[in-house]
Amino acid sequence: MHFRTHPAAAIAVLAVSVCAALTGSAQDRPGYTDTPKIPGQEWRVHDPDRPYPNLVKPGATFSDLAPPPSDALVLFDGTNLDRWDGGDWLIRDGYMEVTKGSISAEVPWEDFQIHIEWATPAIVKGDSQGRGNSGLFLPGRHEIQILDSYENPTYPDGQAGAMYGQWPPRVNASRPPGKWQTYDVIWEAPKWDDNGKLISPGYVTVLHNGVLLHHRQAYNGPTGHRSATDYSRVNRSRTISLQDHGNPTKFRNIWVRPLDAYDK
Ligand code: MG
Repeated sequence: MHFRTHPAAAIAVLAVSVCAALTGSAQDRPGYTDTPKIPGQEWRVHDPDRPYPNLVKPGATFSDLAPPPSDALVLFDGTNLDRWDGGDWLIRDGYMEVTKGSISAEVPWEDFQIHIEWATPAIVKGDSQGRGNSGLFLPGRHEIQILDSYENPTYPDGQAGAMYGQWPPRVNASRPPGKWQTYDVIWEAPKWDDNGKLISPGYVTVLHNGVLLHHRQAYNGPTGHRSATDYSRVNRSRTISLQDHGNPTKFRNIWVRPLDAYDK
């Protein structure tokens, strides 16, 4: 850019070009057009032109308030944050609410099934990624997005239930803002051989309000924002976390149980 133009005009041109990159092809389809292609897919990361998942109205209840099975570890029963580190979230009436800082908990198993319930704020504020944003981060920072995706357009690989930045949910099974929603997730951690060579990616299966969003789908690597990813620098912890993205999303009834092998 040359500077014979009036400086204010130059700044205005710059502002317009940044805006175009952020909002994609149209104002009502948020997303990014300056991002890399997702490896193995025809779409860009956070592509505004990716098809929006079809709407499915979930049944009135599915695993809502499901009591934990006998072999489950309860991570949150509505009363305390004993198993969680990080933030100091509000606890009230059997739920916890994002206040400040993401929180994390140890899971004793590499591969597991997790049940979690969440609700985005009943009073709608913001739009796209600014509306009820949180997230369930599986070990190694693989995010299943939590968002108010009820009549809230955003890029499909960032809506509720997305494997953020990698795969949109197959359908949009969101309940309205303020309503409790369930995720039942099966996580198979990535595996390495003794030489540190990746022999299996992480796989996830997700039911949202009883509706299948992902069926043993592979992550390309840990979650990134506006970037492609791989497994070159993954953290091999057994820590899950719940994201503080600046919105007071609520959580309740979180439990986890191991994936058992056959015939053992
Ligand atoms: Mg999030």
